[in-house]
Parts: sequence; C-alpha cells; structure tokens
Amino acid sequence: MQIGCPTEIKPQEYRVGITPNAALEAVSQGHEVLIQSGAGLGAGFDDAAYEAAGAKIIATAEDIFASADMIVKVKEPQAVERKMLRQGQLLFTYLHLAPDPEQTKDLLASGCTAIAYETVTDRAGGLPLLAPMSEVAGRLAPQVGAWTLQKANGGRGVLMGGVPGVGPARVIVIGGGVVGINAARVAAGMGADVTVLDRSLPRLSLLDDLFMGRLKTGYSSAGLLEELLPQADMVVGAVLIPGAAAPKLVRRDQFAIMKPGAVLVDVAIDQGGCFETSRATTHQDPIYEVDGIMHYCVANMPGAVARTSTLALGNATMPFMLALAKKGWKQACADDPHLLNGLNVHDGKLTYEAVGTALGMDT
Ligand code: NAD
Repeated sequence: MQIGCPTEIKPQEYRVGITPNAALEAVSQGHEVLIQSGAGLGAGFDDAAYEAAGAKIIATAEDIFASADMIVKVKEPQAVERKMLRQGQLLFTYLHLAPDPEQTKDLLASGCTAIAYETVTDRAGGLPLLAPMSEVAGRLAPQVGAWTLQKANGGRGVLMGGVPGVGPARVIVIGGGVVGINAARVAAGMGADVTVLDRSLPRLSLLDDLFMGRLKTGYSSAGLLEELLPQADMVVGAVLIPGAAAPKLVRRDQFAIMKPGAVLVDVAIDQGGCFETSRATTHQDPIYEVDGIMHYCVANMPGAVARTSTLALGNATMPFMLALAKKGWKQACADDPHLLNGLNVHDGKLTYEAVGTALGMDT
C-alpha cells in the first residue's frame, strides 16, 4: 500500500503523523511511504531521516493526496486538505467530528473512509490513541504550572519542592484519570505536596496504592475543595465526563479565599474548562490573570513538546497503521473491533453513532 503523510498545516501544530521509525517498519513490510518534504521538521525529523528509513520525500501535499491509498496525519484535515481527499481513500488521523459539521460534510462529500484516532478503543475500555496525549498533557501540567508560579510570570514565587527548612508548594489535582495521575506523578517528583481528588473510589484506591503515601487522595466534592483552596499554590484541572462539557468546579468568587498568585492549570480546557474563569489560550500567550489568580489554559498542550508527543502518538498509532496497510481497512476492522470503533465515515455515510447524534445526522 502507498501510505502518505503530509505536513500538518493547522496553526501551531508541529507534530507529524509518521515518525522515521514507523516509516521504516512500513517500508520493511513492503509498503511505500510518501512523506511531504519538511513534514517532520517541527518534531525534529529532517527529510534525510525519512530517506534513511526508505521513505520517499514528496514536494507537495497535492502529490501525496493524489497518489496515496492511505493518508496518516495528526490533526483533522483542514478545508484545503479535505478538497484533495478522494473516493475510496483511507484517512487515519484525529477527527473530532462531533462539534465540526463543516468537516463532517466535506468528509462525507469526498467519499473517503475515515478512521478517527479518538474513537479507537482498547480491551480495558480505554482510548489508546488519546491516552498518550493525556499522558503528555498531564506530565506537562506541573512543569508549566511551576513556571507560572515564578514571580516574574505573575505567580506567588513559590518553588515546587521547597528547600530544607522551607515547605513545598501545595498542589491539588482535580481528576485522577490519565491526565491527573501523570500530573500527580510529576508534581510529587518535583517535591510538591500533592492531593488528588476524584469521584471514582476505585481510582482513588489505585492512586493510594501506587503512590504509597507520597500523595493524599480526596473524594471530590464542592465542600472539600472549599476547604483545600485556601492552602493551594497550584490547582490542576484534569476532570472528564465523557461526552459532556467539563463541570465548573472552582468559581470566581472563591478566588477571594485563595492565595494571591496561586496558579490554575486547566488541562480540561479542551472540554470547556473546569474553572469558571478559564478561556482557551495559546502557546504564544499561555497565561493570564483574573483577580490575582494566574491561569494557564492551553488547549493543545502536547504541541509544546512536539517531539515527545509525535513519538508517543507514533508508538500508539503504528500497529493500527500497519494493520490497515497490510489488510486494507475492511479486513483490519473485521479482525479488530477496537479499530472498527474508530470508523467514523465511509463512502458518503457517517458510521459513528455519537457523532451522528451530536450533529443530528443519520448513521
Ligand atoms: P480520564 O477519563 O482518564 O480521567 C478523568 C477523570 O476525571 C476520571 O477519573 C473521572 O472519575 C474524574 N472526574 C469526573 N468528574 C469529576 C469531578 N467532579 N471531580 C473530580 N474528578 C472527576 O480523562 P483524561 O484523559 O485524564 O483527560 C482529562 C481532561 O484533559 C479531558 O478533558 C481531556 O480532554 C483533557 N486533555 C486536554 C489536553 C490539553 O492539551 N489541554 C490534552 C489531553 C487531554
């Protein structure tokens, strides 16, 4: 099969859909890999790295879309890319169609078959192609929060780990899922005093077992949060209610009981954010202040560490990409119901019920 990987064109997207190692695997299995010249540069992979892996460097996205049987990307295809998709062509990438009727309409019109990373499942009921990005965002959250806590950035001027004789920063992580557990791990590793709140008792139990006293857990409630907020130097928002907007868990009027210069890192901003005052920010201008409380609300946190994110995403997508290339999408999906769950669009029809429901369209 011919597998094509164009350069990402969405603003501030530096990841690339295929790593040189993934290209090498595909080439060694007899496939042809076409990489747009420069596609990997944002993640630190030059054309020579792909050529060494046996991939062909192609000058333009048009040429890749015109010949590849499968397009592997990171972000949803932009309008100009959607015009290049062909009947019967396979598209494997993040799509997030539910809030995006324009993209959905164009994909249906193209006649392509689109498998969305975000709806592929695994045996444990997880989302294996979303999890790596949650891991990245979770581990990044205390890092950016620690930077924001520095005085020059508007924070309280508190060091995460403290020093001998001076206590550490107090960090509350709301939500102990994939983001939360990774945020807690890094915050604890930096020496902070960490409390994780969740509404799932099994999750709290797991965290308690894993961290063996290195952090505290709490059953997430408005009352407990009100008790903890006055001590907090940093609050990481990491909640998710599947299929719903994030609940607003910290109100603006509660800033009055918080320490001036405390930091809110709202990782859940891509679901609307879990703090009342959250609004999406960018890597160029990531933080802002409301009533003395600093906010970091970047909706695409993994983009800040494009190389790590590309490698992590590539590790997760590669087995599926290779199965699709070897068997074709029909057989690969017949053999793997979890990959089949990724099928969102085929031959002019929506094939994913939740997207259809969200958009009021037939599936
Ligand atoms: P997850 O499903 O693994 O974990 C979410 C956790 O939130 C669960 O353990 C759940 O029990 C808990 N929860 C739900 N309601 C709660 C409440 N009221 N109080 C406390 N806990 C509650 O999800 P995840 O992968 O960790 O993702 C968390 C959020 O981070 C999502 O909104 C996701 O979209 C977002 N995210 C953002 C970025 C970014 O770049 N900003 C990157 C990755 C993920």
